[in-house]
Amino acid sequence: ATEIRLADRPYGEPTLDNFSIVDVDVPKPGPGQVLVRNVFLSVDPYMRGRMSSAKSYAEPYKVGEVMTGGAIGEVVKSDVDALRPGDVVLHQLGWRSHAVLDPEQAVQIDTEAAPMSAYLSVLGMPGLTAYAGLFDVAGFREGDTVFVSGAAGAVGSLVGQLAKLKGAKRVIGSAGSAEKVRYLTEELGYDAAFNYKDGPVTEQLAAAAPDGIEVYFDNVGGEHLEAAIDALNLHGRIVVCGMISQYNATEPTPAPRNLSQVIAKRFTMRGMLVADHFDLQPKFVAEVAPLVRDGKIKYSETVVEGLHNAPQAFLDMLNGANTGKMLVRL
Ligand code: NDP
Repeated sequence: ATEIRLADRPYGEPTLDNFSIVDVDVPKPGPGQVLVRNVFLSVDPYMRGRMSSAKSYAEPYKVGEVMTGGAIGEVVKSDVDALRPGDVVLHQLGWRSHAVLDPEQAVQIDTEAAPMSAYLSVLGMPGLTAYAGLFDVAGFREGDTVFVSGAAGAVGSLVGQLAKLKGAKRVIGSAGSAEKVRYLTEELGYDAAFNYKDGPVTEQLAAAAPDGIEVYFDNVGGEHLEAAIDALNLHGRIVVCGMISQYNATEPTPAPRNLSQVIAKRFTMRGMLVADHFDLQPKFVAEVAPLVRDGKIKYSETVVEGLHNAPQAFLDMLNGANTGKMLVRL
């Protein structure tokens, strides 16, 4: 069996040296436990935060600890009546080939209803983040113009499509390549999109949203947030889901410099954590799974093969190599 552990904490951008790949014995399940062989695991932006020692909403990883996080595997041994060999479960034990789980750590998933990997992407945590952020936190209303950053990623790609399906007046996305921009407008139905690397975000957003925006779904922070504040209409709403442009920062970041517009525009800005919205999961799946099945919502996954490539997949995801959800298949 193999595990991937945090070898040491990154300063700035993480590197492969921050991880160690370790051979271990296949763990043995005890009484009342199951042994799972992992099939997919998730690499996520929040893991960058957990690699540093700074206190945040998710506990820092300990140095030497396995990179825990979302994973899906098949039960191979079981001492639990409710879980049998061949059952597929979602769990949080992360980057390892095999995991021993107590039953309460395993959520059985229905692979007839959707492909396994969807439970880590469009129907999983990133999907719920998009759904809860747009409807619960941003209070999306029909007729809103919505701007989404990180729009071609796991969360962002769903935000724009949900807004469109629910009657947004206009949906604008930003992403980091021409190919992603095409994906947004040609595949996902975004009304406009731009590559934030092509020029100042404020100018590109103003051109894409001549009548301003009501909602900004922030995955990026920094210059994007500043641009969105400039574009917001009266009583606009910002939901701050992530600020990935700052996760590798080694010094405090300056933007947004235009925050004083909060007064004249009376806009609101709310942070969100998906964990506060887990109660919405059944409603979310009931609503979104059929839309995915009928092709009304599209999703992409960028799948990297091999557990030992998980660190590289994580680094690549932070640098934008993924369209939709970045996953590792074992
Ligand atoms: P993505 O699938 O969007 O992958 C990350 C993407 O971020 C990359 O593909 C890259 O795309 C983009 N990116 C990287 N660096 C920058 C930069 N400097 N400026 C702009 N874009 C950048 O990840 P997720 O969908 O999983 O997560 C999206 C955001 O949502 C993250 O900020 C994450 O932390 C946050 N999040 C928050 C949750 C919460 O509960 N609050 C839950 C889940 C996610 P590109 O090519 O476009 O640059």
